[in-house]
Amino acid sequence: MKATATHGEPPRVKVTVIGAGVAGLTCAVELAERGVDVEVLERSRSLGESACSWQAGGMLAPWCERESAEPLVAQLGQEAIGWWVDKFPGTVRNGTLVLAHGRDVAELSEFAARTERFERIGRERIAELEPDLAERFSQALYFPTEAHLDPRAALAALVDRAVDLGARVRFGVNGSTGVIRELQSAGRTVVNCTGLGAREELADLRGVKGEMVVVRIRELSLKRPVRVLHARLPLYVVPREDGLFMVGATMLESDDAGRVSVRSVLELLTAVYALNPMFGEAEVVEIGSGVRPAFLDNLPRIRWREGLLHVNGFFRHGFLLAPALARRVADVLLADARFPEVMDEDHRERRRA
Ligand SMILES: Cc1cc2nc3c(=O)[nH]c(=O)nc-3n(C[C@H](O)[C@H](O)[C@H](O)COP(=O)(O)OP(=O)(O)OC[C@H]3O[C@@H](n4cnc5c(N)ncnc54)[C@H](O)[C@@H]3O)c2cc1C
Repeated sequence: MKATATHGEPPRVKVTVIGAGVAGLTCAVELAERGVDVEVLERSRSLGESACSWQAGGMLAPWCERESAEPLVAQLGQEAIGWWVDKFPGTVRNGTLVLAHGRDVAELSEFAARTERFERIGRERIAELEPDLAERFSQALYFPTEAHLDPRAALAALVDRAVDLGARVRFGVNGSTGVIRELQSAGRTVVNCTGLGAREELADLRGVKGEMVVVRIRELSLKRPVRVLHARLPLYVVPREDGLFMVGATMLESDDAGRVSVRSVLELLTAVYALNPMFGEAEVVEIGSGVRPAFLDNLPRIRWREGLLHVNGFFRHGFLLAPALARRVADVLLADARFPEVMDEDHRERRRA
C-alpha cells in the first residue's frame, strides 16, 4: 500500500471506503481514529437510502444469536457492545428478554441448550423487567449483557464522528471500476463495503431478504428487545425513542428488496399483537425490507480480490460484527496483520506474495 510522507512526519496511509452502510462507516471511523486519511464514497444521495443497514433492528445480541450461529459470531460479537458504547451514546445496555407463549414453552429449553450467559426467570422477574408484559408470560430467558441501538441514529453518528476526525463522506458518488482504478493509481487503498452491490465481484455472495414493520404506540413501553420463540413465526420487537417499535423480521432466500408481502406483514403484526394486544392500537409507521448480504456459511469475510479489500457477508449480524471486522481491517492495512478467523486464506497468501 502506498502512503505519503511530508518532511519529518510519518507517512499517512490513504484509504477510500466504498459504501456507507454499517460495514463501510465502522471501517471509516476505525481507520480515521488511527490517523488514516479516509474518504467514503456512497452512491445514494442520502444516508441509508439503499442500505440494508437502514432496515436493521439494531440488536447487539451475541448470545441470543449463538443459538443459531457459529461460535465465531458470539466471539467477535462480544467486541461490539463496548465499541458502540464508545462511539454512539445512544447504545442501550438493558439486555434481551426471550419469551415463549404457554404452548411453545418447550422452545425456551431448546433455545437455552444452544447458548449461554442467560438467566432463567419467572413471572415476577419478567414483570419487574417489563411491566407491560406482566401476567402474560410465566417463563423467560434473560440475557443481561446484551444491548441494542437505533441503527439510523447510529449510522448518522458514525458519519459525524468520521467527519470530525477529518474524513470526507461523499454521497451520490458511484464507486465504479473506473473510479476505483483512478483512486488506486493516485495511491489510495480501496476498501469495498458495498454489501450486495459487490455480487458481481464476489460470486459466492447471496441475498437474504428481511421484512419488517415499524409501529408507534406511546401507551406501551419496553426497555429492551424482546424475542418471542415460535417454530414457524419467531418474532422480535426492538424499542426505539418516541414510542416507536421495530417488529422483525422475515428471513427469505431472495434479493428482491422492493417487495413486502401481505403474508409477511400479517404474520409480523399477528405475532406482535399476541405479545400484547395493546399493539392492536398502534399506528403503522413504516413497512420495509432489506436484503442481507451473506456467504454460504452466513459468516462475514475480509477478502482481497483484484487489488481491493472486500468486507462483506454480514448476514443478520451487521451491527453486531462490523466493529470487530473494522478493527481487523485497520490491523491488516496498518500492520499487515493476519486474522485467519475472518480472512480468506487464499487471499491472505496472495497479498503476501
Ligand atoms: C430486517 C433486518 C433486520 C436486521 N436486524 C439486525 C440486527 O438487529 N442486528 C444486526 O447486527 N444486524 C441486523 N441486520 C443485518 C444488517 O442490517 C446487515 O448485516 C448490514 O446492514 C450489512 O451492512 P453492509 O454495510 O454490508 O451493507 P449495506 O447496509 O447494504 O451498505 C452497503 C452500501 O453500499 C452502497 N453501495 C453499493 N454499491 C455501491 C457503489 N458501486 N458505489 C458506492 N456505494 C455503493 C449502498 O448504497 C449501501 O449504502 C438486519 C437486517 C435486516 C434486513
